[in-house]
Amino acid sequence: MTNLNPVPITVAMGDGVGPEIMAASLRVLRAGGARLQVETIELGESVWRAGHSAGITQAGWDSLRRTGVFYKAPVATPQGGGVKSLNVTIRKSLGLFANVRPCTAYGPFVATRHPTMDLVIIRENEEDLYAGIEHRQTADVVQCLKLMTRPGCERIARYAFEFARSQGRRKITCMTKDNIMKMTDGLFRRVCEEVGQDYPEIEQEHMIIDIGAARIADSPEMFDVVLAPNLYGDIISDIAAQVAGSVGLAPSANIGARCAMFEAVHGSAPDIAGQDVANPSGLLLAGLMMLNHMGQGDIAAKIQNAWLCAIEDGVGTADIAPEGSAVGTQAFADAVIERLGRTPTRLKPAVAQATPLVPASNEAPSAPVAKTTVGVDLFVEWRGDAEALAERLRALEHGALELKMITNRGVKVWPEGIPETNCVDHWRCRFMNGGSAIPLTDIAALTLRAAEAGVDFIKTENLCAFDGEPGFSLGQGQ
Ligand code: NAD
Repeated sequence: MTNLNPVPITVAMGDGVGPEIMAASLRVLRAGGARLQVETIELGESVWRAGHSAGITQAGWDSLRRTGVFYKAPVATPQGGGVKSLNVTIRKSLGLFANVRPCTAYGPFVATRHPTMDLVIIRENEEDLYAGIEHRQTADVVQCLKLMTRPGCERIARYAFEFARSQGRRKITCMTKDNIMKMTDGLFRRVCEEVGQDYPEIEQEHMIIDIGAARIADSPEMFDVVLAPNLYGDIISDIAAQVAGSVGLAPSANIGARCAMFEAVHGSAPDIAGQDVANPSGLLLAGLMMLNHMGQGDIAAKIQNAWLCAIEDGVGTADIAPEGSAVGTQAFADAVIERLGRTPTRLKPAVAQATPLVPASNEAPSAPVAKTTVGVDLFVEWRGDAEALAERLRALEHGALELKMITNRGVKVWPEGIPETNCVDHWRCRFMNGGSAIPLTDIAALTLRAAEAGVDFIKTENLCAFDGEPGFSLGQGQ
């Protein structure tokens, strides 16, 4: 049953052009009949200046957790150290695992080389290289951990398929680099294919991210929904927004199980702040995604149609209007309000979305697997050649664990390395028992012997088999 009461939402007016585009957007949403009860919170520059390093106060968190819906204007990120990325903090703290970015062209009314482009990028938002787990390991080597989890892949894949089904979209293109990252990206791809079996009506394909990104730039019309892990999704969503015509028109939603955040793709645009020239469309269209999410899809469609009519009528702010014909931020909002109730004649009219964008809740628990520890990779800082290192390490062999190989940046350099391979001071030294199980105490004993022998080891990674399948990569050149 439709809830006719105003729904509480948390609003942040933001920095730069934020207050003016938020005022314009809220005016349009209210004029269109959106049932909103706004709680405004402080966010960004003023909060950082008051000494909150996260850029948000406790009262802000309380409001967000109470309403579960965040309508956010862009926030300036202060330069310099000590300041965390507010968006990353909010996304991670509130578990906003899905970033949804529709990239639509509005040709011929907004200049674009791809007037029929209409794709949605769904980006995993919490995992991958963005966990921010980085270490300097040796004088010359730093690392960033790429973490992919089965529940994380399952959640985003199911969300993407549910989204496609609810929006009447027909195809999902998954993009990864699983030809190189067979375990991490391989898991993402495999889980997407598994989940996709529950949605036979939706066509599915996979592309390697490099050719996929090139095709988005070149032929975006061929895509419907694109699903990608965090880093690739971040990059291709900017490519797609740019190709669509104007970054000023692009909205974005960040969806979690209990909370969701809606914002424009662009930043606070300090260069044009306070001049009534900014385009409010990105934030307004994000507001329409918010209404869909809240079950007010009929109102979202009505406002979107009014907005499409304004675009068709050639009404636009300076970023999209032809020279000399631009209107200001508030006048653009007025033009949309004047057109409420009208339907566009050339652009595709919006229809009410019956299903709100609710994420899948409980994933099935993972099936139990039999894990066996079969060896260890000892990572060593060493300035010398592979033969000399192998000689030192073989002196550590004891009992079942034998030195099996040494790699440098993933390339096997011992045994049977070749002198052309460039080596750095970071060596992965693999000890195994011919594939048989070993007790963890053997690994602890090996590291103790290494420490006593003065081997400068940085870390160990245990090598495990899961249901008999190796859970580790082999060295290239093997
Ligand atoms: P920006 O998106 O603010 O601006 C880039 C260019 O696009 C500027 O020339 C600007 O005038 C123009 N532009 C942006 N939005 C527009 C609009 N609505 N209408 C017309 N023109 C528009 O990017 P930036 O200059 O790199 O970043 C400015 C600040 O915003 C930085 O502090 C950055 O950290 C922050 N930022 C915040 C968010 C967010 O809150 N989600 C996102 C990106 C950047």
